Amino acid sequence: MDEHKFLTRMCTHTLRYVLFVCILGAFLNSGSATHTYDYLRAFAEIGERVPGTDGHIQARDFIVQHLTGAEIDSFYARNTWFYNIYKRYPGDHKRIGIAAHWDSDIGCPGVNDGGSGVSLLLSLADTLENNPPEIGVDLLFFDGEDVEEAELLGSEHFAARCIENYSFIIVIDMVGDTDLQIYKEGNSVKFFPELVDSLWNIGMAIAPSMFIPSVKYYIVDDHLSLIKYGIRAINIIDFDYPYWDSSEDTIDKCSKESLDIMYQYLLRIVYPAYIHY
Ligand SMILES: [Zn+2]
Repeated sequence: MDEHKFLTRMCTHTLRYVLFVCILGAFLNSGSATHTYDYLRAFAEIGERVPGTDGHIQARDFIVQHLTGAEIDSFYARNTWFYNIYKRYPGDHKRIGIAAHWDSDIGCPGVNDGGSGVSLLLSLADTLENNPPEIGVDLLFFDGEDVEEAELLGSEHFAARCIENYSFIIVIDMVGDTDLQIYKEGNSVKFFPELVDSLWNIGMAIAPSMFIPSVKYYIVDDHLSLIKYGIRAINIIDFDYPYWDSSEDTIDKCSKESLDIMYQYLLRIVYPAYIHY
């Protein structure tokens, strides 16, 4: 590409982005990076959220208390109670889902792993509450993802009973670290390459240095349960995170800026009519 074309393309992207931020700024009167980060910090204070522990119950209550009219879908497995939490926004024809798991593994505070997705969904819920989307949007908080070797219990429970016809569900996980780089996830590309392409195009328009259009890892995450039951689901995850599954997955490894990018990214997906791409 010659320099002129390159600069023209960059300017077009920049203008689109500025326009997008202005339009959304006018529309949306709540939800922000600081808001998302505040949710993450408060959620992190609970500590580990291992199923069957007090921290698990506290985390469930934290999520439910910050949503209006959430559904709790409880189930019993492996001698423990698990709680999926759903918040649904009605809309016309098409329906999408944004999902994150909220439990954590033993010995891991799971601030980026699990926590970053929860904080984004809660921030998004505030925005959706005040600015109803045209499309149907379900926010899905799955439990029991991190049991043993990623048993995906909550998403399996959800998918096995799912009667909604989702256009797609995006599973987000580990998207709050300071060095955010999100490669396409291999299993998502294998099953739904065009969906992944279109969702990465949105990401690359907002943050070209963060959304990388190539595959680096094949991840076992909640999207696999959904795919198994015929739901179009993909995973958005930054798996280059040295503190993953360790006691060092703490709030200081996460950043407001990364959460801000992800919040804006999700806005573009839940309000597609407000911007053309
Ligand atoms: Zn996780």
